[in-house]
Amino acid sequence: MKRLKSKNVYRFPIVMNRDTKITYDASPAHKGRLKNAVDFIVPEGTCVRAAFDGKIIDVKQDSDIGGNDESFDKHGNYIEIEHSNEEYSIYEHIRKNGSIVKIGDIVKEGQSIGFSGNTGWMGGLGPHLHFDVHIYFGEGPEDYETIKIMWEKEKL
Ligand SMILES: [Zn+2]
Repeated sequence: MKRLKSKNVYRFPIVMNRDTKITYDASPAHKGRLKNAVDFIVPEGTCVRAAFDGKIIDVKQDSDIGGNDESFDKHGNYIEIEHSNEEYSIYEHIRKNGSIVKIGDIVKEGQSIGFSGNTGWMGGLGPHLHFDVHIYFGEGPEDYETIKIMWEKEKL
């Protein structure tokens, strides 16, 4: 029943260079249903790209507040994309007014969608982009679980 790994093959949501740090387990938020999430440690204003073709289904970009305590979670800006195979990706900690897409937009893999920031629950990592791929098992906004991401290395 449970899907362990993504069916879609995703591209990294930022342009990687030799110094870009990726971490799966440094964030205190990456437990439970978020255990397969990944953080890209990048400066504020880094261009964020769609990791796969899809449709923008949610955008929050009105916050300018971030901090290291979990209580900041609700202040995080994000962009969420619906993909094929009932998979969804999310890009979190987007800077204020940092989305260049809106709900309903169709995006192609690699297309720029916004700019990273420092909003929400940063978990002591400093500015970074949180990314995960998840599937929903119910109707509620919290009824989801992250899955392991299949990356297409050739697309780096
Ligand atoms: Zn994260």
